[in-house]
Amino acid sequence: MIKKAKDHKMVEICSDSQVAFKDFPPGDSVSWQQWEVVKKVVRIPRLVEVSGTKEALSSAIRSKMDSYSEHREKISTQFEAYRACRERALTQEGVLHVHIDFSENYSSKYDEEIQSVHFGAGRNQITLHTGVIYSAKGTESFASVSDSLEHGPRAISAHLKGVLKAKNPKELHFWSDGPTAQYRNAKNFGYAAAMAKEHGCSVTWNLLAPGHGKGAADGIGGAIKRNADDAVARGKSVLSATDFIRVNSGSKLRMWEVTADDISEIPDPPRLRQKVKATMKQFQLVIIDPEAIGFRQRSCFGDRDDCPFCDCVSSQAVAVEFPQPEVADLSSDDDTLKELCLCPTTQSSDDDAEASVEEGVEMIEPSSTSPIKNGSFVLVRVLGGGRKKTEFRYACIVDEG
Ligand SMILES: [Zn+2]
Repeated sequence: MIKKAKDHKMVEICSDSQVAFKDFPPGDSVSWQQWEVVKKVVRIPRLVEVSGTKEALSSAIRSKMDSYSEHREKISTQFEAYRACRERALTQEGVLHVHIDFSENYSSKYDEEIQSVHFGAGRNQITLHTGVIYSAKGTESFASVSDSLEHGPRAISAHLKGVLKAKNPKELHFWSDGPTAQYRNAKNFGYAAAMAKEHGCSVTWNLLAPGHGKGAADGIGGAIKRNADDAVARGKSVLSATDFIRVNSGSKLRMWEVTADDISEIPDPPRLRQKVKATMKQFQLVIIDPEAIGFRQRSCFGDRDDCPFCDCVSSQAVAVEFPQPEVADLSSDDDTLKELCLCPTTQSSDDDAEASVEEGVEMIEPSSTSPIKNGSFVLVRVLGGGRKKTEFRYACIVDEG
């Protein structure tokens, strides 16, 4: 038993006392909770010695060869397409080849580290999203840096916003590896369609086969981390994205910070109307019209003039659903409607409202004080019909104010 001493500073332990329990019948069972260190079962590949007949060995080799040669083919096809795409970008105005990747997070470092930071949980991580743009204007390397550790599609979209800032592309071709949590998923595909819509250009997203080796984006990550480590060695602390950018200010790289707010401000992606079949087998997305995405099992930037928008690789198409613009909720007795609407809904009797709408449009003179300018896109919802229960929707582009 533990007793507090009278002065509250010392503790007396009576080693001969024990916790007392009420008597219970021997053998009674009960359940309880306790803390334990749980070992996770992990599959670790290990090289083991196997013996058997030569026939068994040769058939084992044959069965592995099919999937291995498909894997080799995937790597070399995607790599050839990568080179053809880069060539297209370097020689054609307005074509951007953008190779991106998340570099391994940088662990923040103090110049004189105290042990608890070094070994404890005191280190912050910094996200590095790096890449290279190839275009007719030349080659540009970049890195966006964030204190947010989010690497999902929304974060990628936020990082890419800065990549495309002040760019006016005709064609955008992204290249990345294909982890499902980052680039290879319906949300990221939706964001690619949104990008095509926002920039008014065609987009392809190409995935490199696993095991493709190190790319240009990896090199950038390595270089800026070394710069940061050198700065720490010279007595500077690198504790945040801002510090990381500051110590890299001497490099030729374009660098900027992506804040947690930048990421949370990215709207939800447009939804894909159908499920993508065999997502893991798809290696190229082709978006010409943002409302539809073509998926292909290999990238094509072949010899034909229309590649990569050709039909020379088999594909599946998936429709994209963009959020509808807000429909003005104007009931027919609203004053605003009288101002905006050129139809005589309020002058006609309920019975012939439906019929008179069309005729009315012809007769009424447009108001000279109309707030709607030429080229405005107008969506109006009006309740009409016998009991004003029928909803009419009008969508139009104004060509004479
Ligand atoms: Zn082609």
